[in-house]
Parts: sequence; C-alpha cells; structure tokens
Amino acid sequence: MITFEVFVANLKQVKERIDAACLSVGRPTDSVQLLPVTKNHPVDAVQYAAQAGLTAVGENRVQEASDKHAMQLADVRWELIGHLQTNKAKFAVATFDRVQSVDSLKLLNRLNRCAGEVSKQLPVLLQCNTGADPNKYGFSVAQMEAALEAALASEHLVVEGLMTIAPLDQNPAVARAAFEDLRELRDRLSEQYSLPLAELSMGMTGDLELAIAAGSTQIRVGTALYGARSY
Ligand SMILES: *Cc1c(COP(=O)(O)O)cnc(C)c1O
Repeated sequence: MITFEVFVANLKQVKERIDAACLSVGRPTDSVQLLPVTKNHPVDAVQYAAQAGLTAVGENRVQEASDKHAMQLADVRWELIGHLQTNKAKFAVATFDRVQSVDSLKLLNRLNRCAGEVSKQLPVLLQCNTGADPNKYGFSVAQMEAALEAALASEHLVVEGLMTIAPLDQNPAVARAAFEDLRELRDRLSEQYSLPLAELSMGMTGDLELAIAAGSTQIRVGTALYGARSY
C-alpha cells in the first residue's frame, strides 16, 4: 500500500487531469466528481480518501466493502460499481448508499424488494453496455427503455442516472463512442420521460479525458490514485 503522501501527490495529478480535460472542452472544472475506487486495496485506501476530503468510495464486492465499512471510522458514502448477484441484494442494500451497477431486471426487482423490506429509498444508476462488449455486464441500449420504466415503477429505487464501462481497446475511438452513446442515450431518455437523469458515471484511469469530453459527471478512478491492484 502506498503512503498517504504518495496518495496526495497522485490525487493532485488526477485533479490536474480533470481540470485540463474540462478546460479543453469548455466545461467548469467542478462539473466532474471524482469517485476513488478502493477495491482490492486495504481499508487505508478509504481512510486516505476521507482524509483528503473525498466523500464517497467505489467498491465492486459486497463482502469486501462491508468488511471495510465495519473497520473504518471515516464517514464516507459507499458506492457499488461491480456486478451484483441477486442473492446478495439484501446484503448490498444494507452496505451501500448507491448501486451504480444495476444491470438486469431481475436484480432491479430484487433490490427494490430488499430496500422495501428495510424501508429504504435506494439511489441507483442503470448500467448500460453501450460498447456492446461481450465481457461486460449491463443492459443493452435497446433494453434501456424497459429498464428505466421498471426502475421508475419501483417504489424503493431512486434513479439518478446512467453508468457505463468502456471496452478495453487500444483505439480511443472505441471508448469515445461508448461514452458518447451513453450521453446521447441519457439525453434521449431524459427528454422522453421528463427526468433529469443527471448522473453520467463514466471514465476510469485510462480513459477519463474521453469520458469528460463526452459529458461524464463522475469518473471512477482506482489505479491513478492507489497504484496497481494486487488481485
Ligand atoms: C476497477 C473499476 C474502476 C477503476 O478502474 P481504474 O482503471 O483502476 O481506474 C472503475 N470502474 C469500475 C466499474 C471498476 O470495476
């Protein structure tokens, strides 16, 4: 695990990348939130983020997040960004403040039921596989209207926006297209259903500039902040 000083230096660099990306497309530099991704790092990663003034962290497994949650004293919000098995929905509702990775109707319905059982309103994002990557979870673009309608009919879910993970590809045009497609999809659904769908969670260490140019409101960054993960 890196030291806090190294984390602070990394954070400064990431913020400089965000600022430069915003400025190059004429966006205000505070229009993009940074979600530090602490998965596969010790609980210190969460403490570092909190100490540096960041208010939320991203994790991709419920058990790992729950263990860290129990261990650490920092007051941060927990966001689930990884695929969730339906049988862990109850555990996820108890652990996370928002689920970004709602990727099937089955999961959506289960999360709604579990949130209802504990009288919770659960903020969610709908994950769309805009890059049509066979290795990624998420609704297809064609499924998104039905997904949104199901989410809107779910009394205990609050749909805040959309999320995508771009396909890994050497050619930046691939990620750019995936991000632009999510943005266009959001604009279309937002108009059709008269909803803000304000959050566009897209962009990671390798492609955050492309995501910001396409309209990202939240980038999810692990490696550039904490170094390589040991799996
Ligand atoms: C791991 C992960 C990230 C962070 O990726 P880095 O390349 O380390 O910045 C972002 N989003 C999701 C969904 C992830 O699983």
